[in-house]
Amino acid sequence: MRVAAVEGRLALVVNGQAVDVAEASGGRFGPDPQAVYDRWAEFREWAAGAPAGGGRPLDGLALTAPVPRPRQVFAIGVNYADHAAETAMDLPEIPLTFTKFPSCLTGPDAAVPLPSDRVDWEVEMVVVIGGEVAGAHAVEEAEGWDRVAGVTVGQDLSERRVQFLGGGSPQFSLGKSYPGFGPIGPVVTTPDELPDRDDLELGCRLNGERVQLGRTRQLIYTVPSLVHRLSAVVTLYPGDLIFTGTPAGVGFARDPQVFLRPGDVLESWVEGVGTLTTRLTSAVTSEAAASTG
Ligand code: ZN
Repeated sequence: MRVAAVEGRLALVVNGQAVDVAEASGGRFGPDPQAVYDRWAEFREWAAGAPAGGGRPLDGLALTAPVPRPRQVFAIGVNYADHAAETAMDLPEIPLTFTKFPSCLTGPDAAVPLPSDRVDWEVEMVVVIGGEVAGAHAVEEAEGWDRVAGVTVGQDLSERRVQFLGGGSPQFSLGKSYPGFGPIGPVVTTPDELPDRDDLELGCRLNGERVQLGRTRQLIYTVPSLVHRLSAVVTLYPGDLIFTGTPAGVGFARDPQVFLRPGDVLESWVEGVGTLTTRLTSAVTSEAAASTG
């Protein structure tokens, strides 16, 4: 099963068509794409028997973030060995965990203003938690995938100057949470629909040139391991996101370094999910806004 958000409304994606869930279910499920993760098992059951047809072709629709308001967004640094090597960072003994504040989330076809000339790309597989409203705590590793509603594509856009301020106590969470720094989508795909949930290709193109390519089998902490280790500490709620880390090929590790510029276009993909398109623009300053407004 695949779901998307069309102009903020939950849609079931069937054969390239988007079916409005609130309409097709006669109001049993509301239009809010975030709320469905609280009733994920019930929703899956309904979707399996949902009437086909009545949808609109997905191409050309205005897709918004499929998971727009998660309670928590976890992100994992240094979770691919090749990325650890290029950044000269030690392999972590526990997952290196930070947050992307939910206000940074945006949709799969977004224009994102650059706050500086030190913004970098990181394509990632993003896991969406499903399940019980009460949340999941102390999940066994063997049950990790059972707590996952689906996966989507994410870009962990990163302002490297702020990220590494503070030296030994870097500011990952702030540097990665400017407005628009968390594009996700275009759909959420359930694990059973993926070619191999433990081995998906992911990659990223900058202005048409491939800059990242990896496979999720290279993850140091796998999806079940992340659910196990994060839930050993925190409670995971339905609709929470986990950005699982990026493979090699980021801009600041290159020689010479490369950072995003206004006019650049990033395309980020995960096999079985689809492609995000992110267009970078100049920063909107209050002076510019005042002169045009
Ligand atoms: Zn990242």
